[in-house]
Amino acid sequence: MDYDEKIIRITPSYLFANPRSLQAETRYHTKTVAALADEHERVQSPKAKRTWLEEKKRFWRDRMKHVTACNDALNLEGRKQEVRRQKIRERVVERIKEKSTELGWGREAERYFKENPMINFVHLNPTLTNDEWTKIEPDLIPLMEKERELFRQQEIGEHIRQRINKWLKPAHTALILSQPPNELNPSILDLSLSDEWRTHLCTEAFNEDLTESLVEAASAQIPEIAKAWRKDRIEQLLEVVRNSKTYSGQEVTEDILHLSSTIFRCTKCEDYYGHGGVHTFPHTLVHACNHPHDLPIIQFAPRHLPAPPPPNYGPYEADRRFDPDPVIRLYRKEEMHVVAALKYAGMWSGLNHIVFDDAAHEHMLTMLDTLGWSRETSAAEMEERQPYVECLCECYHNPAERASRKIFRWKKAPHPPGLKGHPGKIRVLASEERWLHYEKSVPLEEEGVEDHQTRGRNVDSDSGSEIIEDLSDLDSDFE
Ligand SMILES: [Zn+2]
Ligand SMILES: [Zn+2]
Repeated sequence: MDYDEKIIRITPSYLFANPRSLQAETRYHTKTVAALADEHERVQSPKAKRTWLEEKKRFWRDRMKHVTACNDALNLEGRKQEVRRQKIRERVVERIKEKSTELGWGREAERYFKENPMINFVHLNPTLTNDEWTKIEPDLIPLMEKERELFRQQEIGEHIRQRINKWLKPAHTALILSQPPNELNPSILDLSLSDEWRTHLCTEAFNEDLTESLVEAASAQIPEIAKAWRKDRIEQLLEVVRNSKTYSGQEVTEDILHLSSTIFRCTKCEDYYGHGGVHTFPHTLVHACNHPHDLPIIQFAPRHLPAPPPPNYGPYEADRRFDPDPVIRLYRKEEMHVVAALKYAGMWSGLNHIVFDDAAHEHMLTMLDTLGWSRETSAAEMEERQPYVECLCECYHNPAERASRKIFRWKKAPHPPGLKGHPGKIRVLASEERWLHYEKSVPLEEEGVEDHQTRGRNVDSDSGSEIIEDLSDLDSDFE
């Protein structure tokens, strides 16, 4: 009988395990199926039909066995060829290495062929004839030159790393130890990229150590470098304050940063975790989102040239404009080794996600008013006095529901979870003294419900049971 020949094509054995592929085959070979059905129809007796069916089955079993055997043979042949290719490669590479060593490129050739295992030489004679060598040599030498440059750069990197370990690390540690505990200090990467230090770290000849006098002079500069660095970072944060609704159009100085009502939040954290945090100065500046561990964009521009424009993100990277990679400008190529050695320190990418929290600012002023404290109270003072507050502003409670009783550490209070904006009733609520506060010294748990009620102001005569229930939350809220 006639079968259309497509059915005899070699089908990989794994396809037989997939019923969908078998279905597709059945549908595809309708001509064959029709021919078989026709043939089956023509067989008369049931016994003959059974024999016919058995025969067909045996035919297809044999055919499939053949297919599998063909596939196995092909695979085996492929593996044999691979072994042969590998053997040729090994022998040719050995010969090339010998020839390269004679020309002084031994180390380079050794590494090049180790790093590039996929380069094949099947077209070459395993013994590598002189003719063949003459042909490949002009292509090979530039590759070896590149390798040599890589080796050179590696050695320079090693020397620079030694200088960092010997001179810069102790100098950076000395700076940290000389400052008060909460001082804002440049990271070791920031310090290494200061003009003084990057010049010294990359002074030639690289294989010579720096002189003590050179290092002393550079170390003496560090307090000044740190001061300028602090000024720059603070200025960036002040710019965030100037861009706020609260301080728009006003003169903003560093004093404002220290106020407890100067609160920032991080929009990136807000997107990721649903809460942008309550950040005060100076720790806003060391917030992790300002120091991503992404690879930086390196801009090479010698010192005498103006700074290059910020990187241009293409149309497919529109979101990168809101979350840009850190950018580092290098004056010379060798400075790359400084960045490589210290990249663990995290790179400054700017205050791209930090915003002044106007709603938290309002809450904070209300809190201070209710506490009877000055609106100029600093964040440091709040930390010291640690008032605990009960929040009754509408931002904390759905006005339609009865307020639950919760007490917060002051820093948790200015920005309740889910706060989008302040409803604007704050002035009224404040004047009605809806903020209740308890001094830290009040031992709420020991004194129990009654005392809790009498010490607070403006407490409704709620049912005691509800208060007891909510007091059990205190532990978690107090942190
Ligand atoms: Zn963040
Ligand atoms: Zn509010």
